[in-house]
Amino acid sequence: MSHQRVAIVTGAARGIGEAIARRLSRDGLAVAVIDLDENSAVSAAELINAEGGRAIGLAADVAVEATVEKAVAEIVERVGAPTVLVNNAGILRDNLLFKMSTTEWDSVIDVHLRGAFLMTRAVQTHMVEARFGRIVNLSSSSALGNRGQANYAAAKAGLQGFTKTLALELGPFGITANAIAPGFIATAMTEATAERIGTTFEELKAKGAASIPVRRVGEPDDVAAAASFFIREEASFISGQVLYVAGGPLN
Ligand code: NAP
Repeated sequence: MSHQRVAIVTGAARGIGEAIARRLSRDGLAVAVIDLDENSAVSAAELINAEGGRAIGLAADVAVEATVEKAVAEIVERVGAPTVLVNNAGILRDNLLFKMSTTEWDSVIDVHLRGAFLMTRAVQTHMVEARFGRIVNLSSSSALGNRGQANYAAAKAGLQGFTKTLALELGPFGITANAIAPGFIATAMTEATAERIGTTFEELKAKGAASIPVRRVGEPDDVAAAASFFIREEASFISGQVLYVAGGPLN
């Protein structure tokens, strides 16, 4: 098992991140689950271990520099040097622009953009050393603009530029960087959106499905399948791309 690759997935205690962590474990990688709440992160890792995987869970706020550095050092120590990074941690603080507080703006930019920056900066050194790396950033169809999400749309569009720049800078070291931009995926995040706009989750999903060409909303495993594709060895010539995982074309 000495050549087992180590992946870090942020925000992986639940939702899309959890599905990606489970999938990467099934693909044969050791996985470090990072999330805000330690118990949730450890539980998610235990589920992976119960399936025969090799996972650890640890608490870290991806937006805090010292915490990120410490978490990555702990992962190196406990499982080995990470060469796969999935920047998935995310939050919503939706509001129309005229009502959006500075805190709502800053917190979304911090988790998505600052978080991805800090995590990637901390992990790239191990990738460069290994002359191999796979970075996957979670963007969103909201990067194309979405009412009530000026903060989130800016962050998710920002992640696409970040991804392309990583591809340029890190490509010479055998490192690829790609972004996945999901459409409607059924998770706690979209469930909270239903509550906020005063509808049931079932209604929101039915409405979403009707407007999606494949006539269903996405599941976390739909996104995990795309992540699994980008991180494999044979995807070494695919970099700087944004893949919309949305049940149809978006532009
Ligand atoms: P989710 O169910 O809300 O899960 C997000 C996870 O990230 C939670 O466990 C959350 O922890 C964690 N997290 C939040 N802030 C963090 C921080 N500062 N440091 C570490 N972990 C943090 O969301 P999801 O639907 O799975 O979304 C995952 C990613 O996909 C996000 O980047 C999201 O923007 C993106 N995405 C989702 C959809 C969708 O339709 N669901 C569509 C497009 C893109 P807590 O539970 O403690 O808050």
